[in-house]
Amino acid sequence: MAICTGCSLLCEDIVASFENGSLKHAKNLCRKGHGHFQAAFTERTRPMIDGEQVTIDKAVERAAEILKSAKSPLLYGWSNCTEEAQSEGIALAEKLGATAEATIACTTSFCEGILMERVLSGKIETCTLDDVRNYADTSIFWGSDPSSSHPRHLSRFSYYPRGEKRQRSYEEERTCIAVDVRRSPTAQLCSNYYFRLPPGGDLPFMEAILAVLDGKIPKVADKKKMIELATVLKKTEWGAIFPGPGLIYSLQDKMELFEQLLARLNEITPFKVVPMVADCNARGFNELLFEKTGHASSVSFNGGSAAYGPEHSVLAAAKKCDAVLAIGSDPLSELPIGTARALAHQPIIAIDPRRSLTTDAAKVVIPSALIGLEAGGTAVRMDGVKIKFEPVMNSELLTDEQILARIMEAV
Ligand code: SF4
Repeated sequence: MAICTGCSLLCEDIVASFENGSLKHAKNLCRKGHGHFQAAFTERTRPMIDGEQVTIDKAVERAAEILKSAKSPLLYGWSNCTEEAQSEGIALAEKLGATAEATIACTTSFCEGILMERVLSGKIETCTLDDVRNYADTSIFWGSDPSSSHPRHLSRFSYYPRGEKRQRSYEEERTCIAVDVRRSPTAQLCSNYYFRLPPGGDLPFMEAILAVLDGKIPKVADKKKMIELATVLKKTEWGAIFPGPGLIYSLQDKMELFEQLLARLNEITPFKVVPMVADCNARGFNELLFEKTGHASSVSFNGGSAAYGPEHSVLAAAKKCDAVLAIGSDPLSELPIGTARALAHQPIIAIDPRRSLTTDAAKVVIPSALIGLEAGGTAVRMDGVKIKFEPVMNSELLTDEQILARIMEAV
């Protein structure tokens, strides 16, 4: 059995075989996982400095020199690394932070991190996906589209499977509700319970739900549909909400109304929240950093203390950093264009198994073993369940953890 690291569901039931460096046979992989496995062997990176191929030792040495001489390095990515590598990365940031301002941030730092921090601090109640499969009769996909982002979410956990208390499942017992700005594949599945919002319309929609739950007339055009929604919510025995980037971008730092809505729903029936983090071990990084500093997605280490806040976010750090370590992500493709452009002007050290926009722009490229296939370790599923896995194929390549340990030694 192999594990799929194509998304944060970390499906553990994958049967796959490879021949001549490509996928020959696969069972239980969704289309996204299939693409992830297929692409694994294409466009692999080689150790490079300034576009010239070098030995791995030279690349590691140069990376260490750049980080050591930086006044404000940014260590970014981490969401596709094992927990072992993430721990090494946090230790490296702390070490660099003894003589510089070193910011470490993961891919959730400009999205789900704000919600995950509330989940980890216990302000928002959460549950496992196994609880969802066993008990949930209502699932709300809010600003998320698992049919596209986590394709086996509905079949393994939230809609189709039969669970301990949900033997009649989607045919009779489960209702799914989609709240989104577009009619996504998940929204199409939810049909009668799809609520289309204008961009940024989440706060008025929450106010409308709160009003209708209290028997007041909601201030929305389709009052009948809101009353139907209130009926479903009031009849729910056990509910789960899966907020995605759509909701979080819309709320930004105005989480209070969402928390108020959760509190109101929980007066009626249990309603849990599982943030829909995308990358395979985004939650692992959030948990490790939170345990260490009390903050989930980005901090700056400086002179032995950790600072947090908008001025220490990845967006702020990108403007003032003088060196970038990119690992477990492709920041030049993923970050907002202004931030990506700022990063591209700095010396980038890219640790990546595969070529990307970031490795193409990097001063130093260090190839690493592919997590899940060539590198084993520990990762945390989107709901906090820890999953240990072994590599399924041999590789001469160093793992992220080994590369970081060597850089750590050299700085
Ligand atoms: S749902 Fe995610 S983890 Fe599971 S097979 Fe698909 S891509 Fe891989």
